[in-house]
Amino acid sequence: MSKKTPQAIRGTQDIFGPDAEAFAFVVETFERVRRLYRFRRVEMPVFEKTEVFARSLGETTDVVSKEMYSFDDRGGESLTLRPEFTAGIARAFLTNGWQQYAPLKVATHGPLFRYERPQKGRYRQFHQIDAEVIGAGEPQADVELLAMADQLLKELGIHDVTLHLNTLGDADSREAWRAALIDYFGAVKGNLSEESQERLEKNPLRILDSKDPRDKPFLADAPKIDAFLSDEAQAFFAAVTSGLDAAGVKWVRAESLVRGLDYYRHTAFEFIPDEGSASAAALGSQSTVLGGGRYDGLMESLGGAATPAVGWAAGIERLAMLVGAREEEKADFAVISDHPRCGSDTSAVASTLRRSGFNVHSSFGGKAKKQFAAAREADPTVRIVLRRWEVNETLTQEKLETDDPIIVELRSDYPEIAELRFEIWESLRCGFDVSIDAANSDRAFLRPPSPRT
Ligand code: ATP
Ligand code: MG
Repeated sequence: MSKKTPQAIRGTQDIFGPDAEAFAFVVETFERVRRLYRFRRVEMPVFEKTEVFARSLGETTDVVSKEMYSFDDRGGESLTLRPEFTAGIARAFLTNGWQQYAPLKVATHGPLFRYERPQKGRYRQFHQIDAEVIGAGEPQADVELLAMADQLLKELGIHDVTLHLNTLGDADSREAWRAALIDYFGAVKGNLSEESQERLEKNPLRILDSKDPRDKPFLADAPKIDAFLSDEAQAFFAAVTSGLDAAGVKWVRAESLVRGLDYYRHTAFEFIPDEGSASAAALGSQSTVLGGGRYDGLMESLGGAATPAVGWAAGIERLAMLVGAREEEKADFAVISDHPRCGSDTSAVASTLRRSGFNVHSSFGGKAKKQFAAAREADPTVRIVLRRWEVNETLTQEKLETDDPIIVELRSDYPEIAELRFEIWESLRCGFDVSIDAANSDRAFLRPPSPRT
C-alpha cells in the first residue's frame, strides 16, 4: 500500500491563521448586519437535483454549460453540487410553501462549487454570503438589499468599492434590447472572439461582459438598454436610484453591466473596487466582490407561480482579501503553572474565568519554560501563574495532599492591571475561596470552595 500523502483537490483551499480570521470576520460581520436588516437565516443543502440549476440558470450560461460539478448518485439520479445559492433557495420556497411568509427576507452562507480555472480569487470550492428578498416586487426591496450590501462593506472597513448599477428592464424591454444587440453584433460577427460569436446566438447580452480585446472595440457603441425601456421599467429604475440617494448609498450607472444568468430583470448590480484603489490592487483581475439583481423570472422556470424577487451574493474569499489578514485575537488571560501538581487547578481557574466571559489561554502542561513561551505568544493582558504553597518543614506531606492552597500571581506588563485586579479576583471568587495577600495584592491564595452546608 502506498504511503504517499494524498494532495488537496485543485482549486480548493485550506484556510488557516490570519486568513482564516479574515474569513471569520467577514462571516461574523455579515451575520450581524443581516440581523440589523432582519433577514432570517436559512440553511440549504449543498446538492440539489441537476435540473434545479439547469432550468433556473439557463443551459447557455457559463455556470451550467461549463462549470457545474454534476454526477449520478447510486440511484442513478443526476445531482449537482450547488454553484450558487439562489436557485436552491427558490426551489425551497416552492417545495416548502414559504409563500406564506412572503415577502420573505433570507440570508445564508457556505461553500459553492464551480469547475473553473483556479487563480487568485477564483477557486473551485469557494464561499459566498447571500441575501434574498422573495415575494416583493417593489423597488424599495432593491433599495433595502443594496443598503445592506453597502453597510456590510463599510462595516468590513472597505471604503473603496462602489455600487455599479444598471437596469435590464422588464421582459419586453429586455427582449427588444436583446434583438438590437443581435443586429449590432451580428453585423461585425467575424471580428468578434469565438466565445462572443457563440454568445451571439445563445446569450447576446453576455457579449457586453466580454473581457476579450477583440470584442472591446465594439462594446462602447453597442445599443444601450435606455433606448428600449418601457415607461414602467423606467419608473422602476428611477424609484431604485432615488431610494438609494435617500438611503445615502453611492452608486454609478453602468450601462453595459449585465448579469450572467438568464433570470434577471430590472435591477442588476455589482460592487467593484474603484480604479487605482487598494482594493483593486488586492483583487487583481477578479474585480467583482458582490453581485446580484432582480430575478422576477426565476420561480416560473422552476414551475412555480410568478414571484418577484431580488438578491445578491458576495465571495467571502474576495471580501477577505480586501479585509486583509487579521491577527488572531490576543488573550485576556494566560493561565499557566510552573508546578506539575497544579494541572487541575489551572483548568479550574481557566474555566472560572471563561465562564465569566474572558478569553483564556491555558497550557496542557509540560515544561514551565515552554508554557511561559506559549503564554507570551498569546499576548495576554494578564498572566496568572499558579504555584503550590512552597514545601517547607512545617507543611507535612499529608497536608499537601489535602487542602494546601494554590498561590495565584498576577503578572502583566500593562499598568491597567491595577484596575483589572478587582475584576479578576471577583470572577474567581465564584469558583474558589479567594484570600488576597495583604502585603501584595497581585497575589492571592485560592482554595477549593468551602463545602456548602
Ligand atoms: P465572475 O465574473 O468573477 O466569474 P460571477 O458573475 O460568476 O463572477 P456570481 O455568480 O455573481 O459571480 O457570484 C457572486 C460573487 O461570488 C462574485 O462576485 C465573486 O465575489 C464570487 N465568486 C464567483 N465565482 C467565484 C470563484 N470561482 N471563486 C471565488 N469567488 C467567486
Ligand atoms: Mg463566473
